[in-house]
Amino acid sequence: MNKTTGILVLGDQLSWQHPALISADPADAVVILAEVVEEATYVRHNRHKIALLFSAMRHFAVALRERGFQVEYYAFEEALPTLLAACERAQAQVGFNRLVVCEPGEYRLREQMQTWSAALEREVEILEDTRFLSSIEDFSQWAEGRKQLRMEYFYREMRKRYALLMEGDQPEGGKWNYDAENRSGWRGQCEIPERPTPPQDAMTREVIKAVNAAFPDNPGDLSTFRWAVTAEDAADELSWFCTHALPYFGTYQDALTESSPWLFHGLISMYLNCGLLEPLAVCERVEAAYRKGDCSLAAAEGFIRQVLGWREYVRGLYWHHMPDYKTHNTLNATTPLPDWFWTGETDMQCLSRALTQSLDLGYAHHIQRLMVIGNFALLAGLDVTAVCEWYLAVYVDAYEWVELPNTPGMALFADGGIMASKPYAASGKYIQKQGDHCKACCYDPKKVTGDGACPYNSLYWHFIDRHRELLSANPRMGLILGGWRKRTDDNRAAVVSWADTNLLRLASL
Ligand SMILES: Cc1cc2nc3c(=O)[nH]c(=O)nc-3n(C[C@H](O)[C@H](O)[C@H](O)COP(=O)(O)OP(=O)(O)OC[C@H]3O[C@@H](n4cnc5c(N)ncnc54)[C@H](O)[C@@H]3O)c2cc1C
Ligand code: SF4
Repeated sequence: MNKTTGILVLGDQLSWQHPALISADPADAVVILAEVVEEATYVRHNRHKIALLFSAMRHFAVALRERGFQVEYYAFEEALPTLLAACERAQAQVGFNRLVVCEPGEYRLREQMQTWSAALEREVEILEDTRFLSSIEDFSQWAEGRKQLRMEYFYREMRKRYALLMEGDQPEGGKWNYDAENRSGWRGQCEIPERPTPPQDAMTREVIKAVNAAFPDNPGDLSTFRWAVTAEDAADELSWFCTHALPYFGTYQDALTESSPWLFHGLISMYLNCGLLEPLAVCERVEAAYRKGDCSLAAAEGFIRQVLGWREYVRGLYWHHMPDYKTHNTLNATTPLPDWFWTGETDMQCLSRALTQSLDLGYAHHIQRLMVIGNFALLAGLDVTAVCEWYLAVYVDAYEWVELPNTPGMALFADGGIMASKPYAASGKYIQKQGDHCKACCYDPKKVTGDGACPYNSLYWHFIDRHRELLSANPRMGLILGGWRKRTDDNRAAVVSWADTNLLRLASL
């Protein structure tokens, strides 16, 4: 029967808060969900991501039907090329007078959607994605007239707006930010809790089999699939985190270890980014844990800052600066991405661990992404586009709106400082301080040159040396540049030459 409204729900919008579903009349709407070729293949997505999304979409379709919606579901096997083709198929099979969509997370897709009305010969309404706590418009208003768009000030506004961790108009405990208490390295100070695996039903097992068959060359070991695929199971994951890991989250947020890929992190970005969890509910749940006395203020604030601050801020930056943001390469980084980024086979222990778990599990925590992998890419001057594509491909939570500001912006300083006030560049000493990888490594984090010297060390100084002019305009780099300049010419030349040797060796592996 012809329906009034077609509602296209994208794979990263699996939420009852979807703006078109909230007000829809199930009797008069057809919901379209489609596993299309273009979206599944525009990068070599990790199989964990594809399996999570396909299974979550199929579970969401079941839930929609239980609520009385007619659902047109097109599985990957049907080989529909694009989302527009899926809408055309639904139009031919069911018929609808208008199509309603929620704005997508990617610029590329929003551009495409703007052409759909002509193609479908129907009105296409693109609704604002109200699942974010700061709209694209809100962010642009906040950004208007500011010289620098620093996350901290945005975050304070958001704390006030949502009354999270506030005492009247003042921050709880008198401080906005407890980051200084959240930087401990890992020395095995306490037990890391064993994470339970969310339940896996026949539908998920079938998806895993199909994804393994259809994407044989993509990264991801699905024998380790451990993701929730329904909102209920994702909520259980959050509850587990709040009880067992949140109390330690702040303290060990920046820690690195051989002992666990997860440490005390939330493992919730993949759910937030596809609609299985809502950001405000997550923040409120964490605040409630603090108010009950289950965690310290530093832990709760540290976590809320990530979700309410960083996550909303990067999304705002993305839309504020697209499409230009994708073209920045301030440091002229063009060294080809080494092949071993796709295998994890390097003798640098910290990097090998971070790459391998990213490829196999689809997950690495923030410090691995930023200070191990990203830092290496920054120091070695790896090609910005290739690095971005790698990040977009390997992570279970990767979508361009969040990957782009984080990779060229935060990790690679390719945007020239729109996002970060200085490059996140660090030597092996930082990695040693933050964890236990160096003990298991064939390199010595204290050595800068010569056999056995940690490659991060000479590469760090190579980076400082080759960008000294650009960095000298940054007051936060003055001390480091001053120290480098005070060295003898011979010493500087020896370090730079050793770094060149390292770069040649790394390229040839
Ligand atoms: C180079 C690089 C690439 C990244 N790519 C992605 C990506 O593709 N998708 C993605 O969701 N996150 C990305 N991040 C941000 C962050 O690393 C992940 O959100 C986090 O590691 C996810 O794990 P978690 O849920 O255990 O996070 P936790 O450490 O438990 O943090 C809680 C939540 O805070 C949010 N958050 C924290 N930091 C950021 C941030 N910088 N940007 C956005 N959200 C943040 C996430 O939603 C996260 O789930 C990237 C960071 C870097 C440095
Ligand atoms: S010595 Fe260097 S390469 Fe090895 S784990 Fe430590 S920081 Fe990483």
